[in-house]
Amino acid sequence: MSVSSNNVTQQLIQLADTHIAHTYTRFPLVLVKGEGCRVWDIEGREYLDMLAGLAVCNLGHCHPKLVAAICEQAQKLLHVSNLYQIEPQIRLADLLCQHSFADKAFFCNSGAEANEAAIKLARKYAKEKYGNDRYEIITMTNSFHGRTMATITATAQEKFHKGFEPLLPGFKYVPFGDIAAARAAIGPNTAAIMLEPIQGEGGVNMPPPGYLEGLRALCDEQNLLLILDEVQTGMGRTGKLFAYEHFGMEPDIMTLAKSLGGGVAIGAMLAKDEAAKAFGPGSHASTFGGNPLACAAGIAALSTILEDGLLDNCRMMGEYLLTKLVKLKSKYSFIKDIRGKGLMLGVELEFEGKDIVNACLDRRVLINCTMDKVLRFLPPLVVNKEEVDRAIGVLDEVFDPNNSG
Ligand SMILES: *Cc1c(COP(=O)(O)O)cnc(C)c1O
Repeated sequence: MSVSSNNVTQQLIQLADTHIAHTYTRFPLVLVKGEGCRVWDIEGREYLDMLAGLAVCNLGHCHPKLVAAICEQAQKLLHVSNLYQIEPQIRLADLLCQHSFADKAFFCNSGAEANEAAIKLARKYAKEKYGNDRYEIITMTNSFHGRTMATITATAQEKFHKGFEPLLPGFKYVPFGDIAAARAAIGPNTAAIMLEPIQGEGGVNMPPPGYLEGLRALCDEQNLLLILDEVQTGMGRTGKLFAYEHFGMEPDIMTLAKSLGGGVAIGAMLAKDEAAKAFGPGSHASTFGGNPLACAAGIAALSTILEDGLLDNCRMMGEYLLTKLVKLKSKYSFIKDIRGKGLMLGVELEFEGKDIVNACLDRRVLINCTMDKVLRFLPPLVVNKEEVDRAIGVLDEVFDPNNSG
């Protein structure tokens, strides 16, 4: 990594090393400012952001409508307890339910917490309806559902479990995309099936044709709840407001977080009335869940996606980026696969992508790599052609073996 660093960067990195828990491998730069698809580090260098804080900043950085809504709410009321009615919470729930399959929303602060709520609701619903031994949840290999104890257990990837055993009882794993395996895994204890409609951290994996529809039919036939984790795919990321809309089916429960607040921490579990009724007063709670500030941000983020045509832009720019990536694939034989939907695209390489990510960073373009070999593009939904061209130009330069840079 050859991004040069002056004193202030070095000092901060040293201080971080002393006092920040070492849970992340971080790039040696300190980002301090953002606008649209651009961010700046503390030394004033500008970067093109094709990552959007890992699918969080779907409106781009510091969108004026989002900033205005946050400032306005901050001057009125930051927090009150859920012992009282909270206007922005009610209005955000109404908006989310109007634009989805759902009847009810429970608000929390992160994706892991939203999935915790979904797991708890599924257990409570199944136990009340079918008996105490109905608690098991089937999840998929290469899934990612968060880092709490229940959600690492739901996450069927060993690397997230190591050192934290014993895991939570009541989970069973089957291969993503294999409907027969899901059917075979169902037993007298099964309460629900839970999955991401398109896997994110697991390598940007698309569901095979008919898979999600098949799981829906299977859940109906076997009286199971279907939980979709749309923490990464939600809020327009794939070109529809929610990814399930691509597949002609609806879940019983859906979880959201990441881009729900456009950059402010908020998570939500949405559910149909039939499932949601299992949560009564005292069933579940969160001190900060649905607080006025986060919900004001959520309302502004969702309204902006809908009113500013960001779904159309996502579909258009997603197609454009995909076409450009496919062109690169025909040029470089080490690109094994291009996949994804909308502005959630993965480029699978034959080798590890770490050096490619670093070389892009040297050229001031931020991208990500997941599952070691899958370069991942998650740009803000406001991204334009020139920005896509620049990212592709840099990637082409970095891929070119004749380029020593
Ligand atoms: C990021 C992510 C989570 C976890 O969200 P946190 O806010 O980090 O807890 C859960 N599920 C999916 C699909 C994610 O991409």
